Amino acid sequence: MKKVVILGSGISGLGATYRLQQDGIKPLVFEKDGYFGGKTASFVNDHGFLFDLGPHISFTKDERIQKILAKFVNDEYESLHVKLHNYWNGTWLTHPVQLHMHGLPHDLIVEMVSEFVKEQHGPERKINNYEDWLVASYGRKFAELFPMQYTRKYHTTEANNMCTEWLGPRMYRPSFEEMLKGALAPWNPKVHYVSHFRYPTHNGFVSYLKEFPKMAEITLNHEVMAIDPKKKEIRFSSGVTTNYDSVISAIPLPDLIPMIQSAPREVVEAADLLSCSTCVLVNVSVDRTDLSESHMTYFYDQDICFSRLSFPHMLSPNNAPAKHGSVQAETYFSKKYRPLNKPTDTVIDDVISGLKRSGVLREGDKILAREARVLKYANVIYDLDRAKAIEIVHGYLKEIGIAYCGRYGDWAYMWTDESFISGERAATTVLSK
Ligand SMILES: Cc1cc2nc3c(=O)[nH]c(=O)nc-3n(C[C@H](O)[C@H](O)[C@H](O)COP(=O)(O)OP(=O)(O)OC[C@H]3O[C@@H](n4cnc5c(N)ncnc54)[C@H](O)[C@@H]3O)c2cc1C
Repeated sequence: MKKVVILGSGISGLGATYRLQQDGIKPLVFEKDGYFGGKTASFVNDHGFLFDLGPHISFTKDERIQKILAKFVNDEYESLHVKLHNYWNGTWLTHPVQLHMHGLPHDLIVEMVSEFVKEQHGPERKINNYEDWLVASYGRKFAELFPMQYTRKYHTTEANNMCTEWLGPRMYRPSFEEMLKGALAPWNPKVHYVSHFRYPTHNGFVSYLKEFPKMAEITLNHEVMAIDPKKKEIRFSSGVTTNYDSVISAIPLPDLIPMIQSAPREVVEAADLLSCSTCVLVNVSVDRTDLSESHMTYFYDQDICFSRLSFPHMLSPNNAPAKHGSVQAETYFSKKYRPLNKPTDTVIDDVISGLKRSGVLREGDKILAREARVLKYANVIYDLDRAKAIEIVHGYLKEIGIAYCGRYGDWAYMWTDESFISGERAATTVLSK
C-alpha cells in the first residue's frame, strides 16, 4: 500500500483522508498541535462554555457535502435561519447595509443614494482594485463609509491594495430599486448568500471531524520542520523523521516553503510576499442569554477594535450552561500591514470596552470568564502581490511533487466545504500518479 502522509489535521486533511479511504488507503496525518481539527477545533472552558476556534457555521449549498457532514454527526445538528446585523456609529442595521439603510440619518441616505445613481449613470469605471469595484458597485459615499472601513479592520489593509478575485457571492450588488426600498423602510429581500446554516448539536463544530481519527492514523504534537523532496523525507521538531511515497500538505505556504530543502530563492521570496491576517479571538462568558438578536454582527467603527462578534450560545443550546450566554470577538492584525505588537490581555481589555460601548454588555453583567486565543493564520489577504507570488509557489510545489490543499495550501479565502473539497482534490492528484 502507498504510504501517503498528510501534513495538518484540519478539515482539508479530513477531505484528503475521505478521498484516500475510497481507494483503501489509510493515510498518516501529522499535526503540530496537541489536538486535531485545525481551525475547526472546539474548546470548553472551566465554566462549561464551548467556543470554536473562530465562529464556524456550515452554510454549504453543496448537497453532497451536506450529506457527508450530516452523517459524520449522525444527523444531530441544529438547522437555523441566519440573523446578521451591522453596527455603525451607534446604529444597528440589518445585514447587508446596502439593502438596509433604513435607520441611518436622512441626509446621509440621500447622499449615498445620489452617489450610487451618479455612479450607475456615469462612464463605466475601470476596475483596477477592490476600491474601484466598491465605488462602481455602491457609489463612493457608501463605499467609503461601510465596506472600505470594514476592509481596513478585517483585511488590515486598504481596499485599493486589494484585488477582487476573492469576492464570489460575498458582496451583494443591489439595483437602484432594492437600495431605495431598504432605505425607506425595513424589508426582507432574502438575497444574502447565507440564509440557513447547520451546526452540530453536541460538542461544537469539531464534531464534524469526529470520525477523522478512525479514518487516518493521526499523530499529534508533531511539527514539521524540514522536508527533503528528493529523499521523500520529513523531519519533525522532535528530531523524528518519516518517509513518504506521496505527501499532501495543508501547512500555510509561508511556513512550508522555507522548510523545503533547496527551495530556490525566488520561491522563498514569493512565499514571503503572501499575506494573511492574524486573528485575536476573545471569548467572553456571561450570566445572561439575551446578548444579541443576531448570530453575528459586523462592526465598522475604527475606534472599536473588533470587526465581528458572534454568539456561540445561539448556535446550540449545549454551547453554554442554561441561562448563560457567550460572545466571541474577532480583532485582526497582520505581519505586513498591522503587526500584533501588544499583549493579548490588552486586546481583551479593548474588546470588553467595545462590548460595553456598543451596549452588548451592560453594567451589572457578570463576566464569568474571558480569554484570548491567537490564530496566526486567519484570512488570506488578497493584496496586489498575491496573484504573481502564488503562481510561483504553486508551480514549484507541483514541480517537486508536494500536493497542497486547504485554505493555507491553496492560499485562498475558502470556507470549510471548499477546504474539504480541496483536500479531496489533492488526494485525487496523488492517486493519479
Ligand atoms: C475566524 C474564522 C472564521 C471562519 N468561519 C467559517 C464559517 O463560519 N464557515 C465556514 O465554512 N468556514 C469558516 N472559516 C474558514 C474555515 O476555517 C477554513 O476553510 C478551514 O477550517 C480551513 O481548513 P484547513 O484544513 O485548510 O486549514 P487548518 O484548519 O488551518 O488546518 C491546517 C492544519 O495544519 C497544521 N499545521 C500547520 N503547520 C504545521 C506544521 N509545521 N506541522 C504540522 N502541522 C501543521 C495546523 O495546526 C492545522 O491543524 C473561518 C475561518 C476563520 C479564520
